[in-house]
Amino acid sequence: MSTQIFLYNGRIYTGDITRPWVSALLIEDQYISAIGESHEFSPSISRDNISIDLEGLTVLPGLCDSHLHLSDWAKKIIQLNLSRSKTYEDVLQKIMDYNKGQEWIMGWGWNANEWGEYVVPSASDLRFLPEQTKAIFFNKDYHTAWVSYPVFDLMDTRLLLDNIKKGRVLLDEKGKPSGILKEDAMNELLTPIIRNTESPVFSDPEKVFKELYKAGITTVHSIEDYENFIKYQELYQNPSKRGPRFRSYIYWDDHDQLEKMIMKSGGQGAWFEFLGVKIFLDGSLGSRSAAMRFDYIDKTAESYLKYDSKELESILDKSRRHHWDMMIHAIGDAALEQFFNAAAHIKGNYRLEHVQFIPDDLLNRTLWENLTICINPSHLPGDIALAEKIWGKENCRYAYNYRDLWNTGANVIIGSDAPVEDINPWKAVHAALYRQPYHEDKSWYPEQSLTIDECIDALTVNPSKSVRKENLAGKLLPGMVADMIVLSDDPFESEDLQSIETYLTIIDGRIVYSVL
Ligand SMILES: [Zn+2]
Repeated sequence: MSTQIFLYNGRIYTGDITRPWVSALLIEDQYISAIGESHEFSPSISRDNISIDLEGLTVLPGLCDSHLHLSDWAKKIIQLNLSRSKTYEDVLQKIMDYNKGQEWIMGWGWNANEWGEYVVPSASDLRFLPEQTKAIFFNKDYHTAWVSYPVFDLMDTRLLLDNIKKGRVLLDEKGKPSGILKEDAMNELLTPIIRNTESPVFSDPEKVFKELYKAGITTVHSIEDYENFIKYQELYQNPSKRGPRFRSYIYWDDHDQLEKMIMKSGGQGAWFEFLGVKIFLDGSLGSRSAAMRFDYIDKTAESYLKYDSKELESILDKSRRHHWDMMIHAIGDAALEQFFNAAAHIKGNYRLEHVQFIPDDLLNRTLWENLTICINPSHLPGDIALAEKIWGKENCRYAYNYRDLWNTGANVIIGSDAPVEDINPWKAVHAALYRQPYHEDKSWYPEQSLTIDECIDALTVNPSKSVRKENLAGKLLPGMVADMIVLSDDPFESEDLQSIETYLTIIDGRIVYSVL
């Protein structure tokens, strides 16, 4: 006997253009078995059946967060949040209050661009901590880390010297590391240290997954290292431990292991999947290192291209030979151009991340229709002032040009980039629609806005398309998996998207979260 869930008297958005709205939907086991109007269904009488009168509430297909770092985000839930501090003094005060003599203090979210005056934090300012305290504080975009002196003792000396030489470990006036690590220095020096601290997603998965259900997220595309990927694989083998549908890209740094395991992208199933590898082509706006084809106005900024063209082509070629899809971080136009030039020679399944600056000549490239582009609109409100300041106002008509991007025919999807930004998908949608700086009403290049329909596609059907699962998920149609959410407000009509709450989350025909 199958388990049925019957939803009726609702406003159910199917995602199908021929019949976008229905009022009732029947789930049998993992699948949607029928859709229609409430009066067309006759209630069946079985003990296992659940009937829910939606009383007019809106139902959407479950949302996919197409770019997040789930293990890191889970750590963030329990770490010191420095993102609300508006001065360096306040940041130091928060650390002081948080200090209870622990061996490790980790935090995130400090943003020197938001402190009235641009201050570079230093290890010597952390001297108030007990002498052996190991402290690591990531900046808002996770491209810079600020650490206490004892953390340097844990680093590989050769790598440390190498990174000092390359200018990625800043020095104080005495020639000693000042406490700031940038870009690759962070990955090379801190990753091995932090790896030893386990993510709570493995020790307390239920707690972490609940936060996702609450946000209406039923599928994730998570960026992970190989070691964590294997831990997820183990976790998901147990059906009672599973969270949202988990699909993952693995950092290129770990490609040796993938090669050894002979892993290929895709096809592993509806719940759990290896999607491919992730590479970075450039830095970021917040760390003033995105690769631009023009000079930064700000002299402290510098374009950073990680690979030369030959290296990039050899990575793309290797990935193609191993049947790995590629997730490619490209923020500036110089990085985007480098990708287009390389991809002209080497075919592959490519998706690009962020893509925050697309001038006309690149919009006219021919490859777009074969690409998936993942945007992170939640970055936008906090980036507007900085983009104008360091890229220049004139240039900014090409910044975050979502309308231009959508018109290229690329498959556009939306990710939160959590833990860098909030996990709440409606914050991203709000930013893509209104393009406003925080606490301001004025829209920035409003002609580049997306519509609500487009945003919902970018959170539902388009991610399914990007992983070749458009017949399985992303719409509410008979035969598709029963992944859906019931919302407090209809996003198509809502005046206040950011306050939308999830009342009910169903994954694979199972209610995983409910406040109804
Ligand atoms: Zn990211």
